Amino acid sequence: SRFSAYFLMSSSDVIEFVKEKLTIFKSDAELTCKEIGDGNLNYVFRVVDAKYGNSVIVKQAGHTARISDEFKLSTERIRIESNVLQLQDQLSPGLVPTVYLFDEVMGCCVMEDLSDHTIMRTALLNNEKFPAFADHITTFMVQNLLLTSDVVMEHKEKKRLVQNYINTELCEITEDLVYTEPFYDQNNRNELTSGNEEWIRSTIYNDEELKLETAKLKFSFMNHAQALLHGDLHTGSIFITKNSTKVIDPEFAFYGPMGYDIGNVVANLFFAWANGRAHGNSEFRAWIEKTIEQVIDLFQEKFLAQWDKHVTELTAKQQAFKEWYLQEVLSDTAAVTGLELIRRIVGLAKVKDITSITDSDLRIEAERICLTAAISFIKKRSAFKNGKDFIATIKEAE
Ligand code: ADP
Ligand code: MG
Ligand code: MG
Ligand code: MG
Repeated sequence: SRFSAYFLMSSSDVIEFVKEKLTIFKSDAELTCKEIGDGNLNYVFRVVDAKYGNSVIVKQAGHTARISDEFKLSTERIRIESNVLQLQDQLSPGLVPTVYLFDEVMGCCVMEDLSDHTIMRTALLNNEKFPAFADHITTFMVQNLLLTSDVVMEHKEKKRLVQNYINTELCEITEDLVYTEPFYDQNNRNELTSGNEEWIRSTIYNDEELKLETAKLKFSFMNHAQALLHGDLHTGSIFITKNSTKVIDPEFAFYGPMGYDIGNVVANLFFAWANGRAHGNSEFRAWIEKTIEQVIDLFQEKFLAQWDKHVTELTAKQQAFKEWYLQEVLSDTAAVTGLELIRRIVGLAKVKDITSITDSDLRIEAERICLTAAISFIKKRSAFKNGKDFIATIKEAE
């Protein structure tokens, strides 16, 4: 077989690959294949059978990131992604694509084609609303976070999962790009928006209290093996329709603090809010606010209910412990909301919600509102109790 040693596949290689490895396509299938990736790291191919109308996605990991050869990476991340998608499919059925095949040698994962869904960031930029989203994403998070934690899992089994998902290289990317570079005026790859440089220097780089708090949070991210995170849960990792939500791209998965995933969801909804605000769409903005509130409040409600249903750890069965634990998760959520808001504006990896604001004054204003709120999310993280508190923080920054 041509596929007994790794190489980076072209579209025609992918067609040969799926013919050899899968039984999904019939022998007389008329296969075409196109590379459709738009992410930073990997190659994504869509294979379509024109004759019978079925299709699959093949995602292959390269030895460098596709945005820059500067990131040298092993293909280990696609093993992590394939295994985590399969685990998430058990813990939260219907909320991730089905994995058909993981090929260790070729470093690729063949999965369900979700082309009838839209990437949520794109849909939000068109001011589309998704009434089922808060319900779906909170189920996804509660199921995958709580049920992989020591509250529920047998502790030796949980430690084996921790070992399985150490994810050294992708964690390093997060540690650098989220927790370090945006706060320091040296050794960084930051890109400051023209006209906002001085404001960011004085508001972020020169805030010693902020840097102390982010150092604490970084060490918590690295050392708090609480639950198996998705690790990159922004609106570009979510496929959506009016009645379906599918989470993709869990290659950053590892054992870390639960609030990391929840905070990423909330921050990226705030970016959609900031975009809606810059374009004067108050109805859309109100829907985003309601959705953020629901994400926080439904998460807590479902978390408490699932805790009572699934808790196995004796010491965790105390009512006061459950409440303390959830409050810690909420503080981490607020902090990560702040960290994600900052790193996407100051750091290397931007979001379209902000970069597509073409009017320079409006973009500067949007960035300052997000950054001002972000600092409160981080410094006052212990004070957040419910969804309304999250909305109040962004409104105070306006
Ligand atoms: P990366 O890790 O490089 O960010 P993603 O998994 O996010 O890769 O995929 C990049 C893009 O490929 C997505 O934004 C989407 O457009 C497309 N894609 C990924 N998975 C699927 C899928 N299962 N069905 C349809 N399109 C997909
Ligand atoms: Mg992606
Ligand atoms: Mg990506
Ligand atoms: Mg990715």
